[in-house]
Amino acid sequence: MALSESVLIERFFRACGAQRADVTLGIGDDAALLSFGAGNDLVAKTDTLVEGVHFPPQSPPASIGHRSLAVNLSDLAAMGARPSWALLALTLPRAEEPWLAEFAAGLGALAREHRVALVGGDTTRGPLTVTVQVLGSVPTGSALRRSGARPGDQLFVSGTPGDAAAGLALEEGRLVAPPGARDYLRERFLLPTPRVALGERLRGFASACIDVSDGLLADAGKLAHASGSGVELSYEQLPLSEALAATLGEERARLLALSGGDDYELCFAVPTAHVAQLQAELPPQDWNYQCIGVLSETRGERVLRAGTVMEFSHSGYQHFA
Ligand code: ADP
Ligand code: MG
Repeated sequence: MALSESVLIERFFRACGAQRADVTLGIGDDAALLSFGAGNDLVAKTDTLVEGVHFPPQSPPASIGHRSLAVNLSDLAAMGARPSWALLALTLPRAEEPWLAEFAAGLGALAREHRVALVGGDTTRGPLTVTVQVLGSVPTGSALRRSGARPGDQLFVSGTPGDAAAGLALEEGRLVAPPGARDYLRERFLLPTPRVALGERLRGFASACIDVSDGLLADAGKLAHASGSGVELSYEQLPLSEALAATLGEERARLLALSGGDDYELCFAVPTAHVAQLQAELPPQDWNYQCIGVLSETRGERVLRAGTVMEFSHSGYQHFA
């Protein structure tokens, strides 16, 4: 590499994230020392993004940096956890300063927004691959899981699923969109918003929670399965962005909302008896979430349209092929 590994780390990553008092020893030694308060469970997650698999070749470096952290923050949000620290394992074909500066700016901005310190990592040469690990905490015993929901619980989703899949299709030239919709949808793929504050606030309300990374229907099904239940989604209640509806038309937009990936929204169940209090404390219009269905005794996932079960093919990406 043109830059030595130590110069690269010093220049781009030592001051990349937030500064935190609980980082006893950060980047520079053989490992980080983090002081961890009593009464908390440590919550840990890692995720890898591979060029050409998880993002298109030649993606904006700031987006790669942002997404590599965002996907992990979203997993912590789904646990109701507060993120504190991150580690970055970066494999690069070559060390190009402008690329690294933009990558670090994208990662660092999101890290500082959530007060996450970058406390270590590894740097190697090879095909572009970014692995981030995030560590955080929840008060002992209070983490949200996929498994706590019961038949009759209402199911909610944040944001407007499907937008990111349309944004990726735009990036890859598989879709065209009206000018006003195009930038919005691309940004939903390139710079997703992990719902960290919502996840934390859902502790005490939600009986189960999952983040939507593989598609709403599939991920709602995973939550239901883990909870020993099934799920019924209402086609008419699926939230759609204006941009997605304007780009695909309402019919295809709803199908993509069910099947498209990469949204990093939260899907969560709430017992009916707690819904009024949820909506009073976290007004849906402020917190941007909506009821989309209900957990059922009957296993499996179903979508009801005008009261009848839809036949659904798992082929979201083909809808605009
Ligand atoms: P070692 O030789 O002990 O594996 P390295 O020379 O790989 O250590 O790393 C030196 C320090 O820099 C360590 O604290 C490590 O955690 C940190 N580090 C290495 N690469 C990165 C990176 N891409 N981002 C953040 N920290 C990094
Ligand atoms: Mg070492």
